[in-house]
Amino acid sequence: MNSILNTYSPLSKDIYNECYGQEMIDELAIQKILVIGAGGLGCEILKSLALSEIKEIHVIDLDTIDLTNLNRQFLFRMKDVGKYKAEVAAEFIMKRIPSCKVIPYTKKIQEFPINFYQQFPVIIAGLDNIEARRWINRVVIQMVQRDENDKVIDESRHYLIDGGTEGLNGQARVISPFETACYECTLSQLPKQIQYQMCTIASTPRLPEHCIAYAYEVLWSKEQSDLKLDKDNFDHINWIYQKALERAQQFNIQGVTYKLTLGVVKNIIPAVASTNAIIASICTVECIKILTGNGSQLNNYIQWYGQNHQTGIGINVIQQERLEECTECSIQSLEITVKRTDNISILLTLLPPDIELYSKGQTLITNNIRRKQGFAHILEKTFQNLIDEKLIDEKTTLQALDKHKTINVRVQYE
Ligand SMILES: [Zn+2]
Repeated sequence: MNSILNTYSPLSKDIYNECYGQEMIDELAIQKILVIGAGGLGCEILKSLALSEIKEIHVIDLDTIDLTNLNRQFLFRMKDVGKYKAEVAAEFIMKRIPSCKVIPYTKKIQEFPINFYQQFPVIIAGLDNIEARRWINRVVIQMVQRDENDKVIDESRHYLIDGGTEGLNGQARVISPFETACYECTLSQLPKQIQYQMCTIASTPRLPEHCIAYAYEVLWSKEQSDLKLDKDNFDHINWIYQKALERAQQFNIQGVTYKLTLGVVKNIIPAVASTNAIIASICTVECIKILTGNGSQLNNYIQWYGQNHQTGIGINVIQQERLEECTECSIQSLEITVKRTDNISILLTLLPPDIELYSKGQTLITNNIRRKQGFAHILEKTFQNLIDEKLIDEKTTLQALDKHKTINVRVQYE
């Protein structure tokens, strides 16, 4: 970090902040960063953060290393196959850069309590699925606290940097809750899965993919009805390939190959190491900008095209718009009046069913049957009890979350 700030660049202290003292640099050195995912993108992010002199990195990944990862997930070696990615990656980084501490976790992100996430000013996600992204997006939104005028307290804001790659293309975004669009705001912009119309596949195939899809979707169940298709079995894929080839010859279509067959059946998009490296470097630079306050923050979505038929290689920045009716970051406010001597459980009768209520970023009460028991003792307390125990503030706004919405609940006392 010291070298980044002292090397003349848009990120250096001389350009942006002449009175940048050693104290500030020291403070930056103690910031912890969380990386979610230690796969193709995750390995690159970990490396870039460590080389940027981030001193403490936590990494979550429950996956183990597969032989097919080794071509691009460069923190892993043959001897590591079968071991946890997070653990091997942490060990590798610490061996190469002893000044950097990496703490691995091999659990699902959903298994950590919200206060675990609170220790990180920046969370970088190198995930491969939408559900996990939506979940972590919700976490950064939940962690935001508001003052008595319902305004976001800036210091309570945690940033989410989300990277993703697909073959030669990739993207990264910075999510600053209630400031930029969140992940949920832009969910409708996700590209649709490529699907072929059954009528095209069956009667008017034009592409090699149509022939493969026909062999896979139609012929397999017709001719191999008692055999369950195993997508990892060479003989099965080869059968589909041969059938697709026959059909392609029938319709005079070129381009059916074994590799393409595997791609269509497994819905594989090849992973490219250089794309991961580019996206990881963007994520890392954005992280440093947030930590130092230097440089202008990406606002808020960047696309990298390593393969674009019209423009060749290209890069594009889009400011995504917040969705007015976003189910996560549009806020509905509710004011309720209670007596200080009222039992806190009264909230459960005043609020929509199946909610979880947060105070100061921590779960206070929940209607969730599975988790309810752990919070049962709080339900017996009065508002005054909770104020005394500093679980809620005198003037408090609680965040209630149900499956669809964040509701700010302003509590007034009679
Ligand atoms: Zn949103």
